[in-house]
Amino acid sequence: MRRIGQRMFSKKMNRDRAVVIGGGIAGKLAARVLSEFFQEVILIEKDKKNDHFTNRKGVPQGNQGHVLLKSGEEIIEELFPGIIQELSRNGAKKTDFAGDLLWSHHGTQKIRFDSNVFISQQSRPLLEWQIQQRLEKIHNINFRFDCKVQNLKFNTDEMNTIVIEDINGVVTDLLADLVIDASGAAALHNQWLRASGYGIPTKTEIKIDLFYASMVFKKIAHESINWHSLLAFPNPPEVERGGMISPIEGNRMLVTLIGYGTKEIPKNKDSFLEYAQTLNQPEMYEVIKNESPLSEEVQVYRFPALRRYHFENQRNFPTGLLVIGDAFCRVDPVFAQGMSLAAMEAKALREILMKGPKQAAVNKKLS
Ligand SMILES: Cc1cc2nc3c(=O)[nH]c(=O)nc-3n(C[C@H](O)[C@H](O)[C@H](O)COP(=O)(O)OP(=O)(O)OC[C@H]3O[C@@H](n4cnc5c(N)ncnc54)[C@H](O)[C@@H]3O)c2cc1C
Repeated sequence: MRRIGQRMFSKKMNRDRAVVIGGGIAGKLAARVLSEFFQEVILIEKDKKNDHFTNRKGVPQGNQGHVLLKSGEEIIEELFPGIIQELSRNGAKKTDFAGDLLWSHHGTQKIRFDSNVFISQQSRPLLEWQIQQRLEKIHNINFRFDCKVQNLKFNTDEMNTIVIEDINGVVTDLLADLVIDASGAAALHNQWLRASGYGIPTKTEIKIDLFYASMVFKKIAHESINWHSLLAFPNPPEVERGGMISPIEGNRMLVTLIGYGTKEIPKNKDSFLEYAQTLNQPEMYEVIKNESPLSEEVQVYRFPALRRYHFENQRNFPTGLLVIGDAFCRVDPVFAQGMSLAAMEAKALREILMKGPKQAAVNKKLS
C-alpha cells in the first residue's frame, strides 16, 4: 500500500480537493484522513444518507456477523477519539477477546482466560453510522448522498474529472487532485482504467464459494451460557461449515452460519436450525433451538472469491488515483480482517500524505 500510494503523487499535485468514491468503512476512514491534508474532501455515496443504524442497500454484507479486530478498533479510536465509548452508549458490548468467547477451532476448544484485551461488539451498521456522525462534524468534508459515480476521466492537467449522476438524473463533472476508489466489490477503477487506455491491473483470484446466512435473536438466556460470543471456526476442506453468535446493540444476538463450497444454503428458520445442528460445536444449536428470532427472514450473502489487484506491477498508472478497501483487496470474511485492513490503509494513507508535497496555495478554480 505504501509503495503504491507513493506513486499516486505527481510533484505538482495540489491539495485543494480530494474525492472519495464510496461511503463504506474504507471510504469514511479515508475521508477522515484526507480532511487533514486537503482543503475540501467530497465523499460520494450512491445510497441515501442513513439516519439511523440500519443496513443499507450498497453494503449488502452489513447484515452479516462483523467483528472489528483490535488493530482496526485502535486505529478508528485514534482517528475519532472517544468513538468506542460512543458505540458503547449506543448499545455495543465490550467483551474480553479470550475470556468471553467460546471458540472451537480445528476440532479443539480454545482455552478461555481473562486476556484484558477488550473489543467492542456491535453490528456493522452501528459502527458505520457512528463514524458518519463524527465525519459530519468535520467542516471540510462534504457529502453527496444519492449520487452515483458514472465515470472517472484522467486528465493531462493533473486534475481528474469525476462524472456523477444524482437521484434526479442530473449529471455533473467534479474536478479533483486526488480520487480514492473505495467502491467495494464493484472495484470501479477497472472499467475507467480500461476505457482510458491504461489497462487493468493483474489480479489474483481464489474461488472459495462461501456463504453467510444470518438471523437476529433477542439476547439468548440459555442456562448453559457463560460466554458473550461463540465461534465455530470452519477449516476447509475438512470442515466446511461454521458459525458464530455475536452480541449486538439493542440487547440482541446476531447468529451467523457459514459454509464453503456448499449448495445447501439455509433460507428459512427450519433449515437454519438443521444446518446449525450439523456444526462441530453443539452449543450453537442447543442455545438457539428453542428461541424465536426477531424476524423469520434469513439474510444470505454469497462471497464467490477472494481477490487482490496487483497495482504494484502496473507500469502505466495515472497519478491522482488510489484504490483502497475491498475495491483493492477482498480477503476471506471468516478471518474478520476487512474493516481492520481498511483502517490500516487509512493509517498508511496518512503517513504517505505527511511525506508528500507541501500544501499548495489554493488558487485553482474548482468546479
Ligand atoms: C459476509 C461478510 C462478512 C464480513 N465480516 C467481516 C468481519 O467480521 N470483520 C471485518 O473486519 N470485515 C468483515 N467483512 C469485510 C468488510 O465488510 C469490508 O472489507 C470492509 O467493510 C471494507 O469495505 P469497503 O468500504 O471497502 O466496501 P463496502 O463496505 O462494500 O462499501 C462500498 C461503498 O461504495 C458505494 N458505491 C459503490 N459503487 C458506487 C458508485 N458508483 N457511486 C457511489 N458509491 C458507490 C457502496 O454503496 C458502498 O457504500 C465481511 C465481508 C463480508 C462479505
